[in-house]
Formats: sequence, C-alpha cells, structure tokens
Amino acid sequence: MNTIEQILSKQREFFKTQATKDIVLRKKTLKALKKELISREQDIISALYKDFKKPRFESILSETEIVLHELNTTIENLNSWAKPKRVKASFLNFPSSDYIHSEPYGTVLCIGPWNYPYQLTLAPAIAAIAAGNTVVIKPSELTPNTSQLVEEIFTKIFKQEHVAVINGGIPVATKLLGQRWDYIFFTGSVPVGKIVAKAAAVHLTPTTLELGGKSPCIIDQTANIKLTAKRLVWGKFLNAGQTCIAPDYIIIHKDAKHSFYKAFKTELEKAYTKNPKQSEDFARIINEKNFLRLTKMLEDQSIVIGGEVDKTDLYIAPTLIDEPDLDSDVMRDEIFGPILPVISYESKEDIDRIISNYEKPLSFYVFSNSKSLIKKLMRLYSFGGGVINDTLIHFANDKLPFGGVGHSGMGAYHGKASFDTFSHKKPIVKKANWLDVPVRYAPYNGKEKLIKFFLKYF
Ligand code: NAD
Repeated sequence: MNTIEQILSKQREFFKTQATKDIVLRKKTLKALKKELISREQDIISALYKDFKKPRFESILSETEIVLHELNTTIENLNSWAKPKRVKASFLNFPSSDYIHSEPYGTVLCIGPWNYPYQLTLAPAIAAIAAGNTVVIKPSELTPNTSQLVEEIFTKIFKQEHVAVINGGIPVATKLLGQRWDYIFFTGSVPVGKIVAKAAAVHLTPTTLELGGKSPCIIDQTANIKLTAKRLVWGKFLNAGQTCIAPDYIIIHKDAKHSFYKAFKTELEKAYTKNPKQSEDFARIINEKNFLRLTKMLEDQSIVIGGEVDKTDLYIAPTLIDEPDLDSDVMRDEIFGPILPVISYESKEDIDRIISNYEKPLSFYVFSNSKSLIKKLMRLYSFGGGVINDTLIHFANDKLPFGGVGHSGMGAYHGKASFDTFSHKKPIVKKANWLDVPVRYAPYNGKEKLIKFFLKYF
C-alpha cells in the first residue's frame, strides 16, 4: 500500500504529464463513474442505512440523485465550461483579443463530512475531476460503510495517480493537511474549518470552506401557519436534523406561536406518526458522542413536543423547545439534530437582538406574506443563502451557488460554480503586431492630455 506522500507524488507526476487537461479523458472517466454509481445505487442506500438508518427515500432524494444530477450536468456542459471564453478587449490594448482560460489548479484535497457522507464527498470531487485536477478524497470516518464503498467505487474507476480515496480519522486528516496541495475543499464544522485554513495558509493554498452555524427561521403573524409547519417538519427532521442548512431555531411572532405549535404537532404526526421511533422515515443520530451532546441540550428546557430519547438506538424524537434562554447550550452552539427551539418576538428590534448574537449563518429562512418584512430581512442580514416560505430548497437549484459567508464558510459550488471553484481563471491577452499605438512609449513629453483622454473614455 502506498503512503500519503507516495500517492501525492504520483499524482503530481501524473498532473505534469498534462493527461488531465484532456477533456476527452475527463468525460470518459466521469461517464464510467456515472455507470458505476447507477449500478451500485442499492449498495449506496444500504451503506447509508447501516451507518445511521438513513431512510431509503431520503438517500435517493438527498444523496444518490443529487450526485447523478451533478454528474449529468457536468458531463453535458463540460465542453462549454472548459472552453476559453473570449471577452471584450480593452481599447487601451488595441489591437488585441482577450480570453479567459480555465486552468486546473493541480492536485486537490477534498475532505468530506458524515452527515450527507455520499453526496457531500462526491459532488466536490466530481467537479475537481471535471476541472482537470488530480484528486485525493478523504471521506468521514463516522460513516464507515459509506466511506468504504466510496473507496471501492473510485478505486475501480480511477487510477490512483488520478483520483485516490484515503480513508481514516483525525490522524489521517491531519497528515493530509500537513502536505502541500494546490487546492483544498473542506466540508465540515467551523472549528475544523479553522484548522484547515491554518494548514492551507502555510503553503498559501486556496480553499473552499463549506461550514455550518446557527441558521435562523423567522415566522411572522401573516405566514400561512399550516404550510409553514409542514415545510418546517420536513426541513428540520430530514436526516434527523443533521443537515448543515437545517433551520436551527425559530423566531416567531408571539401572536402566531400557539397556532404554530398546534399545526406543528399535526404535521409531525402526519409525517412520522405519533411514535416517530417506529417510523421508517426518521433517521438516527450518527454516534453516541453526538447523542450525548444533543440530549444535554434538552436538560432544563421546556419541551412542548417530543423529548423522548433512547441511547441504545441513538434515537432522539423530533423535539420542540419553548422559549430557551439565549445563553443555554441549545442557543449557544449549532444544534445539528432533531431539536428545534422556538423564541417569540413582539417587535423587529427583538428579532435583531436575537440574530445579532450569532455569526453570519449558512442559511436564513423567512415565512411571511409581508413583502416589506421579507424585503427588509433579506437586505439587512448577511447569510450564505436564503429561502422565503420554505426551507433547504435553495440547495436543489444548481444555478444557485451554494456556500457560506463569514464563519459559515467561504467559496461556493454546484453546477457551473463547482467547475469554476476548481479552475484558476487565467486571463490572456493576445496582442496583434499589425499596429503599434505609440502613446505609452517614452519620451512622454506632450502626451499627458492624450493619455488622460484615453483613460477617461476607454
Ligand atoms: P467535522 O468538522 O467534525 O469533520 C469533517 C471532516 O474533517 C471529517 O472528514 C473529519 O475526519 C475531519 N476532521 C475532523 N476533525 C479534524 C481535525 N481536528 N483535523 C483535521 N481534520 C479533521 O464535521 P462533521 O461532524 O463531519 O460535520 C458536521 C459539521 O459540518 C456541522 O457543523 C455542519 O454544519 C457542517 N456541514 C457543512 C456543510 C456545508 O455544505 N456547508 C455540509 C455538511 C456539514
């Protein structure tokens, strides 16, 4: 077995051969990957179920089909994305023709999280390959079945010098981060994001950091409460709330709270029955560490719905907490589980007082029929991405770049934005020789007015 250093060195050598710059090779390997992923769909779904009882439907919706969609879009558009783009030339350079070339960075490291361990590991890797890089993928150690399968699939389709999967925990991730890369794409928590940024800084390696945070959801008294409850039950409890863009907490107008609780209970029972533990559609917490972290958040809280837990099954019921203190655990850290705290507000200042406690979130949700409130909130706050009157769905449109801002991350991907993320945009000016405008050359004497005129109008 090759060491990390050996794999990296082989990838560097392979990149130097220019083989990955061949669009035909990129498309050929991506098509082979697609064929393999389609034929292994059932294995992927089973691995996800073994890892945290991820429901089959959710695996199709939020893992396998999303990856296939990204692959299809990439294969379909790769020729046009990769083609040098001609831009309007500057008159100051006349006569010239100007182009932007998309150039692969070189050898890329993609580190994945456990919560969507298939999709969030594969989608960036696919884009990195499409852009012509060699890639090392480090899946999460917390989903061993899925991560092992990812290794099997890539090992079958790709030569190690092109794409390699290196499985392992923090020591392996640390060793990988100790190497010099040409680009690092990291999806995971804010604290580890800072470790990645520090390691990247040593070699001035560019990074994309897809992180997390506390994503608020504001509901005012004009919202359609029944539909709001239904959409929130779905968006919060998909993947048992272990979603980076899940609504983390609710700020609701005090006059809407009572009817919201009633509607939420009805919608919850419709989705998962009166006993969600028996429902095949509700996933489990990833491990004991996270189970204990989450159950601690329930201590001394006023639980209005749910609250049942079972350590042997890593089960936490979909839970609603009423009016938690802002300095309690559940309001201090990102929840990342099926717990939803609700805080009521009376005035816009109340909303601001709560939101201003936190770093810029990854997502922001508003349920309202008030155009002015929606406009105000969308302009006032900075966040990675937002949805009005629904949750999570901005993730599904590959025309929308997905990523955070501030502490919720830097950089974005999906669709063409993914290809661009893994490509250096190299501008090249081709100057013609048939004319050589003399203005810029010394002696400068008497040319000031002329140059000012040029700079002002062109
Ligand atoms: P994590 O940061 O614990 O782990 C992510 C990856 O980093 C794993 O592969 C892990 O092996 C590695 N890692 C962990 N500790 C490390 C260390 N000390 N040094 C180097 N590498 C280390 O995150 P997680 O628990 O897998 O995922 C949950 C977090 O990820 C949440 O905060 C969530 O919001 C965020 N997330 C963000 C997105 C997004 O797209 N923005 C998507 C999913 C999850």
